[in-house]
Amino acid sequence: MKKVLIVDDSKFWRLVIGDIVREIESNIEIVFAESGTDGFQKALKYKPDYLIVDYNMPDLSGLYLSVVLREMDEFKDTGIAILTASSDVVNQLWAERSGANVFIRKEKKEEIEKNIRSFLESPHKTSKSEVESEGGNIFQIVEKRLKREILEKEILSYLRFTRDERYVVSLLGILFRYFSKFTSFRVLLLSTSEGRIYSFGKPVRRETLKQFFLAKMEKPISPSLWSFHGVFGDNVPSEEALHMVVKDEGEELGVLLFEEIENRYLLKSVIEEAASSLRILFRNLNDFRDYMVASETDALTGLLNKRAITKVLEDSLKKNTDVAIAMMDIDDFKKINDVFGHPVGDEVLKIVGKILKESVMNGKVGRYGGEEFIIVFETNDRNSVEETMNEIMGKVRSFDWKKIFGVERKVTLSGGVAFSNGTISPAALVEEADKKLYIAKRSGKDRFVI
Ligand code: GH3
Ligand code: MG
Ligand code: MG
Repeated sequence: MKKVLIVDDSKFWRLVIGDIVREIESNIEIVFAESGTDGFQKALKYKPDYLIVDYNMPDLSGLYLSVVLREMDEFKDTGIAILTASSDVVNQLWAERSGANVFIRKEKKEEIEKNIRSFLESPHKTSKSEVESEGGNIFQIVEKRLKREILEKEILSYLRFTRDERYVVSLLGILFRYFSKFTSFRVLLLSTSEGRIYSFGKPVRRETLKQFFLAKMEKPISPSLWSFHGVFGDNVPSEEALHMVVKDEGEELGVLLFEEIENRYLLKSVIEEAASSLRILFRNLNDFRDYMVASETDALTGLLNKRAITKVLEDSLKKNTDVAIAMMDIDDFKKINDVFGHPVGDEVLKIVGKILKESVMNGKVGRYGGEEFIIVFETNDRNSVEETMNEIMGKVRSFDWKKIFGVERKVTLSGGVAFSNGTISPAALVEEADKKLYIAKRSGKDRFVI
């Protein structure tokens, strides 16, 4: 005979629900419990097929009872219904997340009856993913839950440092070290704009580590850019590694890698428990990175935009590094637009941007305005700057522009170069380069003044 356990602290409701159940199914054994803890004990004792539990009970709420029972193997397939008064602040979501099967409001008798009938008539198999069952007593279960909550809370607290990704990664390293020692900790974070690789511990080869990470993933996306942070050298990643791919609905967000682990079993179980919070953390870090890259990039040329390149200049002057800057402007660009149209003008901008990017190895390039570009050199060595400038001018002059215009037509640039001499301000440096650019234009274009 099937058994149903009715748990409610109100005698009135115990009677009402009991009558309803008996009316629906006369051949059923009914057990009553008067509180959450009483319900828990009776559940263990009678192993009911169905539980109908009140949500609002003073000692242990229906939700909590449901959560605790669901963690135990023997209650995996027990039907659990949660009853709520209409004033209770609980809904379908809470009921589902707690592992209960249905959620029934204490409203009209006919409605309750209809809902309990369909509840008793349907089988209640819980899918494996909903419940990670594990036997044990209530203290072990509650403790396990508590530990997981502490772990999740800790990882989610790192969200406030999303702006400082390297710090977040180092916090993760510190956190996991509480569970086991390991010699190296490495992380891949992969988003469309940039793949970032962090490496702490034994120095490994960048490219080897990158390939190692990619080999662990099923369908990694290809980012536009890769960056490497931390310690790199000549070793290869250890074979004795433990890794976890952090995924969100099939999308692979990154990989964690630990090498030479002292307590592999414990560390493995911890990272598995942390999976859902790591997913949130990685998702946020990736989204933030994509957002940052987009906000710093000029959409047409892919170069840094004015704001970003200005920041590069300010930062390097602040750090007191000697820099040089070049302002470059396409000659007679307005005519190109007028004759060939705006879209062709855009193509020219893209090509010039590409040439600049390819030629500048010792600095950064930005689009400063319409057809104006700026280079911030990380050096103020006159020879090396001059060499790069000549290379750029040459490449622009000799580009096969016929491909773009359909007719023979050349494109040239003019430029002005200024050097920082210790204390100069960003604005003053730009002004000086601008003046020299103006001189280059006045004296016939297709040249730079240094
Ligand atoms: P100069 O040799 O003195 O530099 O002459 P110029 O014609 O190159 O300079 P001017 O400043 O008179 O004209 C720049 C033109 O660039 C005007 C503007 O319409 C065009 N421009 C600005 N931004 C864009 C863009 O994003 N795409 C295209 N196609 N044209 C642009
Ligand atoms: Mg121009
Ligand atoms: Mg101009």
